Amino acid sequence: MTIARPTGPRDDTLPPSAETAPSRISADIDLGGPGKQHGHLHVPHSRNDSAWGFVQIPITVVGPNSGADARTAPTILLTGAAHGDEYEGPISLMKLSRAIDSGAVAGRVIIVPALNLPAVRSATRLSPVDGVNLNRAYPGHRSGSLSRMIADYVYRELVAMADIVVDFHSGGKTLDFVPCAVMHQLNDRSLFDRTLQALKAFGAPVGLVLRELDDEGMLDTAVESLGKPFISTELGGGGRVTAETMAISDRGVTNLLHHFGVLDPAANPLEVANSMETRSTRLMHTPDGACFVASAHVGMFEILADPGTIVRKGDAIGRVHFFEDPSAAAVTYRSGCDGMVLSRHNPGLIQKGDCMAVIAKDFTHID
Ligand code: CA
Repeated sequence: MTIARPTGPRDDTLPPSAETAPSRISADIDLGGPGKQHGHLHVPHSRNDSAWGFVQIPITVVGPNSGADARTAPTILLTGAAHGDEYEGPISLMKLSRAIDSGAVAGRVIIVPALNLPAVRSATRLSPVDGVNLNRAYPGHRSGSLSRMIADYVYRELVAMADIVVDFHSGGKTLDFVPCAVMHQLNDRSLFDRTLQALKAFGAPVGLVLRELDDEGMLDTAVESLGKPFISTELGGGGRVTAETMAISDRGVTNLLHHFGVLDPAANPLEVANSMETRSTRLMHTPDGACFVASAHVGMFEILADPGTIVRKGDAIGRVHFFEDPSAAAVTYRSGCDGMVLSRHNPGLIQKGDCMAVIAKDFTHID
């Protein structure tokens, strides 16, 4: 098998990276080539059970059949399963990889449904290989641990080729969300406006303008710093999908490909009902710490306001019960603001410091 270095177009605007030597990861397809190609990213991973082994991350690249349309439309990078227990995006992207017809594509679509492959295999958030959170490892290191090596390749090779990046997330085993598309609050007004249009185009029930509690090392931040639109999602959670969250995921990716002019408006590879219809998205945000309710107790968790519930400041959100002590009164937690319960802690037990709930407020964009 020949493992070729990627030959796709590079972005001259990419700032100099601390890394100068080529990535140790290679693709076995031509990322800049015509038509649809399925292949793998080969990540060197020598270990006890495989001395000269690799981790092989599936990738599909779809370019136009002829070079004519390649420069008239953007390149979009679609990634899923940066966390291995989040499933809507990866399933939509696997379906898209199989069904998308290169004859309907202008520009280029790069699809990586299972970016953190070892974590997907073990159904865990973090990589079982190095214990690293892949979405806190950017921009990565070519000679770092497996996750940092993957982050370095994504940043220096795939993001460099892309004009737009969409990274699909869900709540995983420990959180459950009202399905939403997510962007960050951005200081660059032009980038903010272009990203907001894409957020609306996705058509999720909620479009969240998020201010992260801690954005260090995220793919989001790395892409935004290059001035490129970045959309993420939180499509559900609990370590499983529902028919409703899958429909939102399938429709969202289809809507974005149409919105950016990458996919022929008549093409509907995921057979989405009303794919061209942008459902009204409720724009919300989490402007301050009052939106985040953290547990200060260890115990059994009773949710009192399911995701989607409209609450007022002071309304009861959840209760922690002390199952070791029959005489101890339960502690009630309350919302610090008016808004909608956007996410909840999913497991039945809760620990000190766990995110119990997130409350989002309506977002009014000032023109
Ligand atoms: Ca996630």
